[in-house]
Amino acid sequence: MPVTEGPGSAGRSGGSADRRGEIAARLGAVRARIAAACDAVGRGHDEVTLIAVTKTYPVSDIRLLSELGVADIGENRDQEAARKAAEAAALGLALTWHFVGQLQTNKSASVVSYAQVIHSVDRLRLVSALGSRARAAGRTVTCLVQVSLDGDPARGGAAGPQVMAVANAIAGEDALVLGGVMAVAPLEIPAAVAFGMLRDVAEEVRSVYPGAVMISAGMSDDLEQAIEAGATHVRVGTALLGGRRAIVR
Ligand SMILES: *Cc1c(COP(=O)(O)O)cnc(C)c1O
Repeated sequence: MPVTEGPGSAGRSGGSADRRGEIAARLGAVRARIAAACDAVGRGHDEVTLIAVTKTYPVSDIRLLSELGVADIGENRDQEAARKAAEAAALGLALTWHFVGQLQTNKSASVVSYAQVIHSVDRLRLVSALGSRARAAGRTVTCLVQVSLDGDPARGGAAGPQVMAVANAIAGEDALVLGGVMAVAPLEIPAAVAFGMLRDVAEEVRSVYPGAVMISAGMSDDLEQAIEAGATHVRVGTALLGGRRAIVR
């Protein structure tokens, strides 16, 4: 399809109207998938929040998503997230920022300065760093316990009794709120099985902390299985924005 550009748009990344149309179409398709998945198991459409994972994509895409009604943005690298959150704030965009990537303890002060929700809390040392940094900044940050469903520590996540230990530690920090649990489905386990395991862990945590109702699960390829297993938040990148090619500075 030819791209028509007026003289004023010379030098800009070509065809922002096209990009808006592309993202609008992709967003419509993702919303339809979420609605159909909710319908299939008798859940209300408003029980599932769509988080647009915008890693590697520019703030101009975040602005388009915001204009199309997406209020929740996910990022997985602190440096990139901090820069984009600042740029989006300067544009006046009202967004909730979700940090979804593996988090080094020494990034705690930075992450609590812009993120409202941190999905990847998986060890006690990180909890105490986030807790003290959030308290010092006068902020309250919602934290999810990232659960490792295959017990492989390489991808991050707490396993076995560590899950409850991390949940207890979050609940014990006055500047942190225990929101619930998060997982990434391991490649070697069918998504439906993996998310069923996560649902069991979520129920266990909720039996002690009734307010910890969030289940962050499901990405572009497996959001249906996640919603079927009770996900309250799906984290979708590729299906909304396209395949990630190169890192955008
Ligand atoms: C990139 C990423 C996503 C989104 O993945 P897609 O397959 O692009 O939808 C979700 N969760 C985490 C933790 C991610 O890093």
